[in-house]
Amino acid sequence: MPRPILATIHPAALQHNLQRCRSAAPDAKVWAVVKANAYGHGIERVYESLRSADGFALLDLDEAQRVRDLGWRGPILLLEGVFEPRDLELCSRLGLWHTVHCDAQIDMLAAHKTTVPHRVFLKMNSGMNRLGFTPQQYRSAWSRLNALAQVDEISLMTHFSDADGERGIAHQMQLFASVTGDLPGERSLSNSAATLRHTRAANAAPDEQAVACDWIRPGIVLYGSAPDHPLHTSADWELRPGMTLASKLIATQAIDTGASVGYGSTFVADRPMHIGVVACGYADGYPRVAPTGTPVLVGGVRSRVVGRVSMDMITVDLTPLARAGVAAGIGSEVTLWGQASNGAVLGIDEVAHAAGTLGYELMCALALRVPVQVGG
Ligand SMILES: *Cc1c(COP(=O)(O)O)cnc(C)c1O
Repeated sequence: MPRPILATIHPAALQHNLQRCRSAAPDAKVWAVVKANAYGHGIERVYESLRSADGFALLDLDEAQRVRDLGWRGPILLLEGVFEPRDLELCSRLGLWHTVHCDAQIDMLAAHKTTVPHRVFLKMNSGMNRLGFTPQQYRSAWSRLNALAQVDEISLMTHFSDADGERGIAHQMQLFASVTGDLPGERSLSNSAATLRHTRAANAAPDEQAVACDWIRPGIVLYGSAPDHPLHTSADWELRPGMTLASKLIATQAIDTGASVGYGSTFVADRPMHIGVVACGYADGYPRVAPTGTPVLVGGVRSRVVGRVSMDMITVDLTPLARAGVAAGIGSEVTLWGQASNGAVLGIDEVAHAAGTLGYELMCALALRVPVQVGG
């Protein structure tokens, strides 16, 4: 028998979450962001569920090739644009749209020989200070692009630094609007957090604080994680987990008061208790820093990790199961995140929060050795 750990991708949940984005921004087209191998879910595994999006956005050229290989004929956007001149040949061949965020990329385009002009997304650095032209440089970059025979349509984009937090997006939106006001072309501004928190509802009164744009760029919500956890949970946003990571108990231990569990003896029992040993560790992508108290479902009952996460195993408290009258032993189902077979849900954000990180990092870190199935 294989080691009992298994990740399951949930097609119906992905479809539902995509629909949530559409209803949050009913007038916008949707880039389904599938970078980082669809946030660890696997591009090939999510493709069927997300193909009702208007386009796929990603940043590795080989991932763009994989989306084309799946038969996708619609738009694909390279979120960081090209890295070297020969990438433009692939853009021409595969019909990829690409971000232009710096002069070097315009130079490459100007030197590129192509019979097919490219659709580009000109990126403004409106305050994030990673990629993009400053507001001062933006219009001259637009004019330079507009004069190139290699360029077809120019769309306008920027990225928010605080869509999930207190500062919000108004300061960046105002800057973007003041510079791009009269430029033609489609706009793309919102990531997941801006889509859920700051998009203008259909038919709502004009609102300075809300984004209206032609293309939204949701990533994390598609996979069922709340972009602004713990302010809101995935349940608050009516999202469903796109992935379940499950395993089983492979051993149990009955320990006495004063006994410790795991490396470093960081957990010491203050009463006699039963401990379950789970076939999942940091080599599977479970965060090593998850402390005692990190939530976990055993037999669909909420419990906690105790002691240190090791490479191949974690140890969990079986006390809540005894209290709930649920028998636990070797073979009992353990849900690290996602949905248990009794329907109980443990949000990936809760686990991430306990470990001091985000759902994003956990899903992207799912290890290669974990088998993955689609469905269920
Ligand atoms: C990753 C990314 C997104 C999606 O972000 P989420 O927070 O996952 O919705 C959108 N736009 C750009 C430019 C990105 O790099």
